[in-house]
Amino acid sequence: MFRAEMFERVKAREKIWDFIIIGGGATGVGCAVDAASRGFDVLLLEQSDFGKGTSSRSTKLVHGGVRYLAQGKVKLVREALRERGILLKNAGHLVRIQSFVVPCYSFWQKFFYGAGLKTYDLLSGKFSFGKSKLLSKKETLKKLPNLKSEDLRGSVIYFDGQFEDARLLINLATTAFEHGATVLNYAKVFELTKNARNKIDGVKFRDTETNQEFYARAKIVINAAGAFSDSVRRLSDKNAARMISASQGIHLVFDKSFLPTENALMIPKTSDGRVLFAIPWQGKTLIGTTDTPVDKIELEPKALEKEIEFILKTAQNYLAKPPRRTDILSIFAGIRPLVKKDNTKNTHALARDHTIEIDESNLLTITGGKWTTYRRMAEDAIDQAIDKTDLSAKFCVTKNLLIHGSGAGAKGFGDLDIYGSDAEIIRKLIDENPHLNEQIHPALPYRLSEIVWAVRFEMACSVEDVLARRTRALFLDARAAIESAPKVAEIMAWELVRNQDWIDEQIQEFNSVAQNYFLSTEL
Ligand SMILES: Cc1cc2nc3c(=O)[nH]c(=O)nc-3n(C[C@H](O)[C@H](O)[C@H](O)COP(=O)(O)OP(=O)(O)OC[C@H]3O[C@@H](n4cnc5c(N)ncnc54)[C@H](O)[C@@H]3O)c2cc1C
Repeated sequence: MFRAEMFERVKAREKIWDFIIIGGGATGVGCAVDAASRGFDVLLLEQSDFGKGTSSRSTKLVHGGVRYLAQGKVKLVREALRERGILLKNAGHLVRIQSFVVPCYSFWQKFFYGAGLKTYDLLSGKFSFGKSKLLSKKETLKKLPNLKSEDLRGSVIYFDGQFEDARLLINLATTAFEHGATVLNYAKVFELTKNARNKIDGVKFRDTETNQEFYARAKIVINAAGAFSDSVRRLSDKNAARMISASQGIHLVFDKSFLPTENALMIPKTSDGRVLFAIPWQGKTLIGTTDTPVDKIELEPKALEKEIEFILKTAQNYLAKPPRRTDILSIFAGIRPLVKKDNTKNTHALARDHTIEIDESNLLTITGGKWTTYRRMAEDAIDQAIDKTDLSAKFCVTKNLLIHGSGAGAKGFGDLDIYGSDAEIIRKLIDENPHLNEQIHPALPYRLSEIVWAVRFEMACSVEDVLARRTRALFLDARAAIESAPKVAEIMAWELVRNQDWIDEQIQEFNSVAQNYFLSTEL
């Protein structure tokens, strides 16, 4: 994907786009893949970088949601489990089966969780990831060597999916591009234009790199702005009532020694009543998440002290070697775009946990749901958009659409396997220029070749794009990421033909964002 080429397409465009999609998170990019693969003309606009919002800040689970099962939402769980299976099939390089151990402290708990997880197995049907099983205390401690053994009665092991959220997003954007979509990052929509019948017929957006403004016309505009959906809805109707009820979730990242195993720990009911996971992720331990209502919606949300304390305390209750504040390598926060329950006016609430609203000016807003169900959400949104316009009906094809990077030639590249079939080109970069095989930083599993790849082919524009989303350096170890910034900036400047001022500015901007990812008292 080449940013300059995308702008050329926008400038040269005379025909009206079929779809303009606002938002480059899972929902927006999913809609772009769906519409483009049906053969429609699509323009997707993201105000920051692809995945800068919630979609790079998830727990990285492709799951039916054991929690929803406990709430009796069987239909919702069954559908998510089906999507889980479809995603494993279509993005096999980024989704893997993960075992989860649920520790039990009474025989009643063992029976209760055992029965619940058997139901979870049954609901997955032909999309099963493996059968759950009861484990003895000894077997449990073998699976989770750092689990506290006091009062432990055994556990239940079950299987779900884990995925790489930011990379899946980039691969989805590439898939949309390969099907003809034009996808732009750093393109902020600031106005929706309307025709004489008061229907939206286009958008005005700004290239936030150059401040240049553009106007593009569309048959229908889709608002997939996640937690920002209300601000986009108010561009259509300044009196629109709030639809989003935002809830923040944070994660803490620690060294692997806190979970020295390939199995994840799942705590079904913490003191605040929600699920907490400790998961092996990219050679580290990821622990999360919280659920804190927030009023302020920001692109760079900050973890609250009480959230950090809650995760540490809960982990300390279960782990024999307990993680402390000084062990935190990275902290990241994300905002769930939950739909307000009382918002029924004009909404086409579906029998899932996402909502589609089409307002009087034809702005289609799709929000809620979760990463796991992004494909199904997109299918619903595009189907409803077709009903609202004179676009000819074309069937959704994404159930069987391979996502960029998957398929033949996607494996066998060692640490580069996460890139799927793109790994071959990254290998070639190294063959042509062996110094690109050098690691970015001794504590990070990334090479210089990955910076070059991200800039040349994945529209990475800033040091943050490379260190936060094309690689996950900032999320794995914030201090190591800060130390890597000068080297990354230098290589990017060479690729993008930028000067020393740009390098200095980039390092400063990255450092300022990265301050949110570790405890400042540790500085
Ligand atoms: C802590 C946490 C953990 C989670 N874990 C999981 C999990 O393990 N599994 C799972 O399935 N789901 C999980 N989820 C849910 C999932 O991450 C979200 O449902 C999903 O990422 C939402 O995607 P989105 O595209 O709707 O929003 P976003 O990813 O936030 O994307 C919206 C985008 O719109 C852009 N935008 C806003 N305004 C404009 C504008 N004016 N012009 C252009 N662009 C604009 C924003 O910059 C943003 O990038 C989790 C959520 C949270 C918060």
